[in-house]
Amino acid sequence: SKAKLFDEKTDTRTTFKDVAGLEGAKEEVEEIVEFLKNPDKYTSLGGKIPKGALLVGPPGTGKTLLAKAVAGEAKVPFFSLSGSDFVEMFVGVGASRVRDLFKQAKDKSPAIIFIDEIDAIGRARGKNNFTGSNDERENTLNQLLTEMDGFGSNTNVIVLAATNRADVLDKALMRAGRFDRLIYVDLPDIRERKEIFEVHLRPIKTAETLDLDFLARQTPGFSGADIANVCNEAALIAARKERPAVTKQDFLDAVDRIVGGLEKKNKIIT
Ligand code: ATP
Repeated sequence: SKAKLFDEKTDTRTTFKDVAGLEGAKEEVEEIVEFLKNPDKYTSLGGKIPKGALLVGPPGTGKTLLAKAVAGEAKVPFFSLSGSDFVEMFVGVGASRVRDLFKQAKDKSPAIIFIDEIDAIGRARGKNNFTGSNDERENTLNQLLTEMDGFGSNTNVIVLAATNRADVLDKALMRAGRFDRLIYVDLPDIRERKEIFEVHLRPIKTAETLDLDFLARQTPGFSGADIANVCNEAALIAARKERPAVTKQDFLDAVDRIVGGLEKKNKIIT
């Protein structure tokens, strides 16, 4: 049913202060927030507000989080769907889902539409993939292109899409007036990892003043999602040991556990 696919959240709880690091990406989406809040200001000289932007980067780096924060900052509804939802869909359903989604967003505009894993529908046409019907996928993609071309610059719906494979996308998606802005969301460097720890330590009861530089040094290659995982895991480890608060050792044990998990994942891939 519709309710399952469209995750409309009018709550404004996610804001930029939940997004650590990603300064460049935040600056770019700040502009989108401005467009949503003040469309008339930007169109007054004949300019057109962009319809879409593509967030590109590895898994777990905060693309979804950033899209939600845009909606939260602009105080507009957030409509989302994931490209992978379409993989096993019956013929004709994908296109109508896209049509419904855009209709709902237009009715509630200004609004953000977020399409996660857009590569699942947006792969270059005519190239076979091994998941599901290609025709169905192409129909869905065509509908998406039609919708983006269809709404005028006064509609004030901005579509954000996320992928970790921009290279496989159909070039038609990136044409002017569609996803013509590319925003890179990279793995955090050491300074950003420290900031991500700060965000995810907020709800956690720690036993000592943690050396966040140390934790950031212990976690090279970790994504924001991995760091969120470390903080959560550390709190669970401490609770299991019936400690009154989370210690540095609990964090180190959690890091080891996450590293172990990441190594397993890599083994499966290679
Ligand atoms: P995927 O490509 O796997 O969908 P994504 O890039 O959309 O990943 P998110 O779903 O936004 O990643 O991130 C997952 C979780 O990791 C977030 O809900 C948040 O808790 C944490 N996280 C990721 N990046 C950051 C960040 N920059 N600042 C704070 N938290 C982050």
